[in-house]
Amino acid sequence: MLLRHTTDEVVERTALTVNPAKTCQPIGAMYAALGLHNCLPHSHGSQGCCSYHRSTLTRHYKEPVMAATSSFTEGASVFGGQANLLQAIQTIFAVYNPDVIAVHTTCLSETIGDDLVQIIAKAVGEGKVPEGKHVIHCNTPSYVGSHVTGFSSMTKALVTYFADPKAEKTKQVNLIPGWVEPSDMRELKCLAHKMGIEVVMYPDTSDVLDAPQTGKHEFYPKGGTTVDQVRSSGGSVATIGMGITGSTAAVDALTAKCAVPGQMMELPIGLQATDRFIDTLRTIAGVKVPDSITDERGRLLDMISDMHQYVHGKRVALFGDPDQLVSLTEFLTLLDMKPVYVVTGTPTPQFENRVKTALGGTVPEAKIRAGAQADMYLLHQWLKQESVDLLIGNTYGKYMARDENIPFIRHGFPILDRVGHSYFPSVGYKGGMRLLEQILGVLMDRQDRDAPEERFELTM
Ligand code: SF4
Repeated sequence: MLLRHTTDEVVERTALTVNPAKTCQPIGAMYAALGLHNCLPHSHGSQGCCSYHRSTLTRHYKEPVMAATSSFTEGASVFGGQANLLQAIQTIFAVYNPDVIAVHTTCLSETIGDDLVQIIAKAVGEGKVPEGKHVIHCNTPSYVGSHVTGFSSMTKALVTYFADPKAEKTKQVNLIPGWVEPSDMRELKCLAHKMGIEVVMYPDTSDVLDAPQTGKHEFYPKGGTTVDQVRSSGGSVATIGMGITGSTAAVDALTAKCAVPGQMMELPIGLQATDRFIDTLRTIAGVKVPDSITDERGRLLDMISDMHQYVHGKRVALFGDPDQLVSLTEFLTLLDMKPVYVVTGTPTPQFENRVKTALGGTVPEAKIRAGAQADMYLLHQWLKQESVDLLIGNTYGKYMARDENIPFIRHGFPILDRVGHSYFPSVGYKGGMRLLEQILGVLMDRQDRDAPEERFELTM
């Protein structure tokens, strides 16, 4: 009864969002900045924005997330935040000594119209940026876009500020991973290394937001891509961008600035998407796929064929980030499940077409929606009209799952009430096995719970 006012009658809306299936742009910019080594994210706005972004990331990753703020009060709101940012840059380098300050804007500083390019140039001109240190920026007004577009903008900023064009190309391959978990970034690098391929990945939040407990607090954990590594990406032989919404801007910028050929693909979640990732790596680097990866694939295939009977035909509703949803839809379709509702709050051109391609015509009744009015209220209304066997989405889905009595898997951002997402990958063949295990777990739990005594089985 938590969402007791939700009805099944859908009224088309143009100006109202209820329970958005997204969060705000600067969170993504902050997450991307944390994937750069020795970088302190900086929120150019009021303290409340920065606290919200930090606390959401901290709750999702269960790690302390450091970030600074321009701390706007009434004065900055009226006269602009230049003085605050100049002071902040000077103080941050003096007290916290990062290699890079990564500034993102907020609704307030964007509405005022602060010109970050000019303010950063002034800071450099006034000697507030020490030799060998950097201030970079991206614009993240949160009344448009979502956390995914914020992530995309900061990733592009890494290219704009640091990637160094080189006439001579090396054998290195760039990986732009899109918004995935630290565990996913670790797994993508691991697959490339197993194939003997030298890669540079950015952003890379592994060993930052899943750093091991050593008993010592590290203000800047050991992970993250270094500035020199990002610089070297301008001389790589090719770039693979994963997740069309999260990575295309950076890949295109790298091609335009450094003439590194880029190839975009969907996130390698599930069997087919991982096959495409491995094959692209293999082709670009001219290497063979080692047996260890072929065996991983075989284990996923074995699990799918063994467990297909339990998932076949199950109706699924999904909400969350567009890149995750497209690949999940493809994987669920391979399992002969039916993704009937797919909703993202991130405004994404071509989302419906991408999901339809992933469905391959198998679920003609599927309802797909992206943008401001593609919210969890709408999804709940669809669920009330015709329910599903499984709901997949972030923590906020627990209210719908409870009210409608639907098995629920937490996937995406944010996950505030469970652990595991930052430690166990969902990309690659291993990630596919974990997803399938999660799906089977909730479906079998529900079967056991609802089974009459005479059909309550010890084995599957
Ligand atoms: S939506 Fe705008 S005002 Fe609200 S926390 Fe995000 S940046 Fe700040």
